[in-house]
Amino acid sequence: MFLGFGQLEVGRVWGVPIRLDPSLIIMAVLFVFRAGSLTVGLSSAAILLASVLLHELGHTAVALSYGCRVRDITLLLLGGRATLIDMPRSPWREAWMAAAGPLVSLALAVAGHVGLMFCPREFGLGVVALWYIRYVNGALLVFNLIPAFPMDGGRIFRALLASRLGRRRATFIAYRVAQVLAACMAVWAIVDAFDFVLLLIAWYVYSSAKTEYAMVCAERGYRFGDDPSDDDSVVISPPPYGGEKEVTDIFRGR
Ligand SMILES: [Zn+2]
Repeated sequence: MFLGFGQLEVGRVWGVPIRLDPSLIIMAVLFVFRAGSLTVGLSSAAILLASVLLHELGHTAVALSYGCRVRDITLLLLGGRATLIDMPRSPWREAWMAAAGPLVSLALAVAGHVGLMFCPREFGLGVVALWYIRYVNGALLVFNLIPAFPMDGGRIFRALLASRLGRRRATFIAYRVAQVLAACMAVWAIVDAFDFVLLLIAWYVYSSAKTEYAMVCAERGYRFGDDPSDDDSVVISPPPYGGEKEVTDIFRGR
C-alpha cells in the first residue's frame, strides 16, 4: 500500500497503534497556506486530525467488540485508515462497524452545535473552534456516507447487498459503483479549481475497491486478473478538503 514509509507511532488505544503518516506534513502546509496563518492553519489541521481519529476509533471499537483484529489506525493526508486483519463476516456486523465512524462524527457535530448555542460570544477563539468542530464533523459524516466502497457508505451499501446477493456478487456491484463514483469525484476535483487531494482520494477509492474485490475473489477461490497486493481490509475515511474557503471564512469571523 502506498504512503506507508516513515510512519510515526504516537500511542496506542485499546492496544491498537495510532500512526502518523509523513504525508501529514503536506496537509499542514496546505492548511497553513490556505488559512494564511500558521496558528490558524495548524489549529484547524489539529482539530481535523482529532476528529478523524475519533471517527476511526468508532470503527475500531465496534470491530474489536466483534473479536476482529485491528492492525493499526493511520492518519494521513487522505484522512483516516483503520486496517483490519479480519473483517466482520456477517453483513449486519460489517454495516454496524462501518456506521460507527459516521455516528461518532454525527455526535461530535451535534456537540459542536450545542456548544455554540451555550458558548458566550466573548470567547472568540472558542466560538471559532466550535464552528470548525461542527463544520468538519458534519462534512466527515456526509462525505463518508457516499456509497463508494471501501468508504463507510460503500461498506454499508455492500453489506445491504450481501445480505441478499451473497458476498462476492455484492462486492462486485459495490466495486463497480465505487469506480464510477471515484471517476465522478476525479472529474469534480479537476473541474472544481483542481483539488488535488480529492483527486488522490478518488484514485485511492478506485484502486482500493478493485483490491477488495480481488480479495473476496481469492478467498472464494475465484480468479480475478491481478492478485490482491495485501490481505488486510481497510476502512478508509477521507475528510473533504474542498470546503476550505468556508473554513477560512469561519476563522476570519465572516
Ligand atoms: Zn469511516
